[in-house]
Amino acid sequence: MANRRVFIHYAEIGLKGGNRSRFVRRLADRLREALQAAGIRCQVRRSESRLAITPPADVGLERVVDVVRRVPGVAHVLPGVAVDPAIASIEEAAVAVMQELPPGTFKVESRRSDKQYPLDSIAISRRVAALVHERTERVARVRGPDHVLRIHVGAKEAWVGAARVAGPGGLPVGSARPLLGFLSGGLDSPVALWKMMRRGAEVIGVHFHNRTMQGRAVREKIEDLCSVLAWSCGGMPLRVVPFEGCQRAIVGAVPAEFRMIVYRRAMFRIASAIAFKENAYGYITGDSLGQVASQTSENLRSILEVADLPVYTPLIGSDKAEIMARARNVGTYDISNRPHEDCCSFMIAPHPATSSHPAQIAELEAALDWEALVTEAISAMEAQTVAPDPALLA
Ligand code: ATP
Ligand code: MG
Repeated sequence: MANRRVFIHYAEIGLKGGNRSRFVRRLADRLREALQAAGIRCQVRRSESRLAITPPADVGLERVVDVVRRVPGVAHVLPGVAVDPAIASIEEAAVAVMQELPPGTFKVESRRSDKQYPLDSIAISRRVAALVHERTERVARVRGPDHVLRIHVGAKEAWVGAARVAGPGGLPVGSARPLLGFLSGGLDSPVALWKMMRRGAEVIGVHFHNRTMQGRAVREKIEDLCSVLAWSCGGMPLRVVPFEGCQRAIVGAVPAEFRMIVYRRAMFRIASAIAFKENAYGYITGDSLGQVASQTSENLRSILEVADLPVYTPLIGSDKAEIMARARNVGTYDISNRPHEDCCSFMIAPHPATSSHPAQIAELEAALDWEALVTEAISAMEAQTVAPDPALLA
């Protein structure tokens, strides 16, 4: 079919008033980057208050859809064709689009942004449905059709498409300032990072890595998680921080039942130095209230009090089932489920304390030289950018 397009409907961006143009340009950039990472060079341009992507002749529309439906800011993706707005052209395009779909009933939904158009939306839908029925022998069904054919009539161009797919919604990455996303290798943190990316944050992944207890497999797991999240932004920055020095010092000074709390406080102390370097505005963690001993309200108070910037915990009120469903939807579930050594379980008590007081923890830490520990960790930190994983695409 000539004039093949993938149309992008952006929901929330539409609400941005005077800033709208900037948001739309940012979304177009993110779409171009994601497509380029998939090896597809496309034209992305504004059309009739949407974005229209023109793929190269040798690239299927499904492939483009599979990439762009992962990009935050995208509300819906509609593969189809662009035609001139004359009703005869729309009718022909509608028949051609329907002929490519699997058998089944259909319904036509039309909208027109050109209010001067000689036919109203209902009349357009009726005419098109009649012709599709005549030419393809498909049956029109208003309630519960197998396919919905969508038509949008603008002043310069009309679009016809079917098989609309939902995107993540939200805002394109880069709409908010950078945040450091604490990525552990568990199920929760990748989902937490993804949720903040969907709110437009540029996220720099930070993983604390105990090189003496954690093998290469953990590092690969973290990179694989980043390569899934990278579809949101075209490439995910990652910082891997050696943590064994801190952990050894903590084990020497802090009783086993409180070590987990101090490990997590140490992470925020190191992160403060990274945030300064990276010009980051806050931290993201995968905490969910009450899920494990380190996430009781008492221990979260002891942990989060050392953070020098706001801490975003988008899963704080979510239960495990919700988080698991989202992890499956984002594509991180199977990777998170691979077994790994968790640095927070290094030399901790079988039953860590579920309660603590910040003053008591500060006292246990008194002998630790944080400045030296942070400097040592930062000096051996590794920086990389993880590319999106093409294997995730169908
Ligand atoms: P997750 O499933 O994300 O690992 P969890 O339920 O296992 O979370 P904790 O181990 O208490 O909970 O960790 C809470 C949060 O602390 C994690 O969601 C993550 O944001 C951060 N975190 C824990 N360990 C690390 C680590 N090694 N590197 C970076 N961040 C970490
Ligand atoms: Mg964990």
